[in-house]
Amino acid sequence: MAATTDESRAIGTALGSAVSSPPASEAANAKDAEKLRFIKEMTSDVDSLQERVLAEILARNAGTEYLSNCGLDGHTDCATFRAKVPVVSYDALQPYIQRIVNGDRSPILSTHPVSEFFTSSGTSAGECKLIPTVEDEHDRRQMLSNLFMAVMNLYMPGLDKGKGLYFFFVKQETRTPSGLMARPVLTSYYKNEQLKKRPYRPYRSYTSPTAAFLCADVFQSMYAQMLCGLCQRHNVLLLGAVFAAGLLRAIRFLQLNWEQLAADIDAGILTPRVTDTSVRQAVSGIIRPDPDLSQFVRDALRSDECCNGDWAGIVTRIWPNTKYVDVIVTGAMAQYIPILRHYCGNLPLVSGTYGSSECYFGINLRPLCDPSEVAYTIMPNMGYFEFLPMDDEAADDGKAASGKLVDLARVEAGREYELVITTYAGLNRYRVGDVIRVAGFHNAAPQFQVVRRKNVLLSIELDKTDEAELQRAVERASVLLRPRGASVAEYTSHACTRRIPGHYVIYWELLVTGAAVDKETLDGCCLEMEEALSIVYRQSRVVDGSIGPLEIRVIRPGTFEELMDDAISRGASINQYKVPRCTTLPRIVELLDSCIVSSHSSPALPHWTPVRRS
Ligand code: AMP
Repeated sequence: MAATTDESRAIGTALGSAVSSPPASEAANAKDAEKLRFIKEMTSDVDSLQERVLAEILARNAGTEYLSNCGLDGHTDCATFRAKVPVVSYDALQPYIQRIVNGDRSPILSTHPVSEFFTSSGTSAGECKLIPTVEDEHDRRQMLSNLFMAVMNLYMPGLDKGKGLYFFFVKQETRTPSGLMARPVLTSYYKNEQLKKRPYRPYRSYTSPTAAFLCADVFQSMYAQMLCGLCQRHNVLLLGAVFAAGLLRAIRFLQLNWEQLAADIDAGILTPRVTDTSVRQAVSGIIRPDPDLSQFVRDALRSDECCNGDWAGIVTRIWPNTKYVDVIVTGAMAQYIPILRHYCGNLPLVSGTYGSSECYFGINLRPLCDPSEVAYTIMPNMGYFEFLPMDDEAADDGKAASGKLVDLARVEAGREYELVITTYAGLNRYRVGDVIRVAGFHNAAPQFQVVRRKNVLLSIELDKTDEAELQRAVERASVLLRPRGASVAEYTSHACTRRIPGHYVIYWELLVTGAAVDKETLDGCCLEMEEALSIVYRQSRVVDGSIGPLEIRVIRPGTFEELMDDAISRGASINQYKVPRCTTLPRIVELLDSCIVSSHSSPALPHWTPVRRS
């Protein structure tokens, strides 16, 4: 893999030249060895690297209105920074950001000109958060993914001998009144001119032509990507999407469109449903009449339809040389692991990087580990990182929180923290909203598991159920489905307070491989979920009667796809889309309710015993 001068610049700018370390003899080539040495250096002296990064950021942004208002007065040391700069959430920065959006070009947050805005999947007052970014941020992010690729090559040699079938999508951009672009970070990445003009790189060779990635029409883009992936099926060494949900959507697309795809391959002609001329032109260079392949696709997929439609192991049958599946299955995506395993067999599921619109954070240095063990090593050159202990009572009070933050070198194994970042692009002590847990260390660098987004999902009364608790409850209940040959393909929830007492409604879309699941089992799943919920929930149910029996509404297959389509038609990015684990929007609740196949309620009270305090 060729390291670009931009990468070297990003590496050099932040931290100077790499110190010598033992040669990484297993590295695929000299460039990889250099990257692995760099990772070793980054993870060996976290404390002083972080101090240098902070000093560099503060020196660079010393002339900004924001840091001047904080009274930093040109200081670049950690102590003054901590004393003067408050810990903030997006809402506190929104007025500054709005001025940039409106065209104020003065150095408000960053002395480097804002190059564009990234639209985060996080929202503020119902709107996408707009995250200002600067030109050299692109190089920093690119560097992180290149570092990960060097790690991947170490574990999985020979990836340069074939191609990646990736399902990537762009979203249409908007322009702010100031004329700056607002778009998701990955759309920006794919559309970056440097990327489009990139030299051939063997480890970044895709089956999809760039025009297919860049087509804003989701159907046409997906169709072209799938068709090209089928045409080159023997060359495919890895299959991927950004998040697990994106790959599952692609598999669903194949289920719905394989007949047309096979017909196109037979004739060597792309369906007229794809009208985008640049896509048509690009695909015409790949597709050719191939009756054998077309027959193979028909046989493989038709027989799957006959064999009770469960499509088990379909990925390895269609793409037999696949070495791994490159999708994020950590955090909220963990719930997709069983269904991905169903389609992908025993292929490793690799979650490579951890990042956000605000900053990229870290990489997975053990890419082939079990998904439940994935921990990301935060690279200390990406920004300045602080951590707010989650068990600290002051965590929700910004001012009090300031004094509680610990830095990267001082986090403790096993503890959970909220991530707080200071970036080159001008976010200072910004709460990302992710809760992460220290799983261990690589050299001196802590490694983090992504636990959840810091937000309560469901609450009827005193109870507060978050995403991780809900996920655990769904997982526990779905164990009861296994003997029935079923699993939860997708779920969301809603706190129904139309009736008193209110109750939790959990919408389940099931993947059923055998006969339909019986009523008793599903009733039992309701109770099993309640058993897994917090003691406060169970006390409210059992003692106070302030929460009614939990209800599971089974909805028909395809409903969550409709939800995703709905979100995309309203401007969500297909790359960043994550199924909301709780919905309060009446329109969405109505849609879900219109798709109910059956509904089930807890047949009994869950267990509850008083906590003894001695
Ligand atoms: P966005 O800014 O819309 O790209 O969303 C960023 C958020 O996605 C992060 O703050 C995390 O909550 C989530 N995320 C990103 N990468 C991962 C990952 N590798 N594992 C789990 N969650 C992730």
